[in-house]
Amino acid sequence: MKLYNTMTRRVSEFVPNEPGKVAMYTCGPTVYHFAHIGNLRSYICEDVLEKTLRYLGYDVKRVMNITDVGHLSSDADTGEDKMLAGAKREHKTVMEIADFYTKAFFSDMEKLNIKMPDVVEPATNCIPEFIHMIEVLLEKGYAYKAGENIYFDTSKLDNYYVLGNQNEDELMVGVRDDVEEDTNKRNKNDFVLWFTKSKFEDQALKWDSPWGVGYPGWHIECSCISMKHLGEYMDIHCGGVDNIFPHHTNEIAQSEAYLGHKWCNYWYHVHHLNDREGKMSKSKGNILTVSVLEEKGYDPLVYRFFCLQSHYRKPLEFSYEALDNAAAAFTKLLRRTVQIKKDAEKEGGDIDRAVFEEYDARFKEAIGNDTNTSMALTVLYDVLKADTNAATKKALAESFDSVLSLDLFREREEKSAEEDSELVSWIEEQIALRKAAKKEKNFAEADRIRAELLDRGIVLRDTREGTTWERA
Ligand code: AMP
Ligand code: ZN
Repeated sequence: MKLYNTMTRRVSEFVPNEPGKVAMYTCGPTVYHFAHIGNLRSYICEDVLEKTLRYLGYDVKRVMNITDVGHLSSDADTGEDKMLAGAKREHKTVMEIADFYTKAFFSDMEKLNIKMPDVVEPATNCIPEFIHMIEVLLEKGYAYKAGENIYFDTSKLDNYYVLGNQNEDELMVGVRDDVEEDTNKRNKNDFVLWFTKSKFEDQALKWDSPWGVGYPGWHIECSCISMKHLGEYMDIHCGGVDNIFPHHTNEIAQSEAYLGHKWCNYWYHVHHLNDREGKMSKSKGNILTVSVLEEKGYDPLVYRFFCLQSHYRKPLEFSYEALDNAAAAFTKLLRRTVQIKKDAEKEGGDIDRAVFEEYDARFKEAIGNDTNTSMALTVLYDVLKADTNAATKKALAESFDSVLSLDLFREREEKSAEEDSELVSWIEEQIALRKAAKKEKNFAEADRIRAELLDRGIVLRDTREGTTWERA
């Protein structure tokens, strides 16, 4: 398997610490609101990575945290606690909020065929582990107490910016600029390990600690939870690109200071889903959820398919037009796979092993190349038109679907008569517009309309009697 590694800024051969085994960690959601489809892009891509590793024969153990405490509205430890803000907004307790949005997140995962990681651990389960790590950091001289909070001292490290980029302006993507200066910090990048002197008198969740009653900083939870379940060495750590700085940079700083050796070898970062206004984010409020897409009539797996069409290391722009195109292509794909299943049942026949191996090798090559999902989909399309029997095609598509997870053989309900009639009137309207464009000799517009219809799986035929249409 080849992987791009944010640490080395190169694509290289993936070599795990222990042959055949992969220790993998994913930064989980902060459960103060619904996950938006941008967050879910990250989880879909990470799911593909995990399933690819399994497909290639690795024994994967994957751990994910649930952030239910300590994540302030700025990733640089300022602003309000996101969980507390959520509780106030909904007149509920922090734990009720956490419980509700954790369940909502799991339900979105299920709808998008994202496998549940082997271990999912809420931060509030691990307070003793956080306290222990902070004690060791204090003993080793990597942490200090100031203003009754405990801070990590970044000046004690030779290279704080191990995750490559030295350009802080670029790194600050996840950090809001209304950062009030914390005068307790000895160095600009020092970060809070434990808050005792909370800015919030009404901080809901607090625990006893050697430094007084308080709560953990956000970064410490991922270091501790991953070590608790994966040990001192990790192979792959995942997250969205906004996690690179300061979250992952701080995780590395405190983990390696604590362990005294290198901690994680590969860093897998998913680029953002943007809309026309920029990054989709819970704090900006321009969010779309899986439920909104469902209300608008989209199968959630259309969104998964939309994500798989592009590479995780490129920003992806969301628009309904783009999603409609994905929906049309997906419907067409499913029609073909479901037909193949029916043909295979009708015709019977054995799987042609040589053909299976040939295409399976191509699929592994594509998906094993830094999870190139669009190439992997191309291999699937090649299978569908390959010169072989339906049994072999079905076996290949089924096998690929263990990574793609698109439910390729599940027969979907056909669109309701009402939806169909809406579509038909839209098509007829487009045909009329095209006719008018042609009459005005605006052939570019006429071609654009034809292309748009084709994108949605509708083919036009010009006959003497006028233009007719059919599904591609
Ligand atoms: P949060 O719940 O805010 O902690 O974010 C959960 C995950 O979603 C993190 O890995 C983020 O890096 C990722 N994320 C946040 N916004 C986006 C976005 N617009 N596109 C893709 N991933 C995102
Ligand atoms: Zn994390």
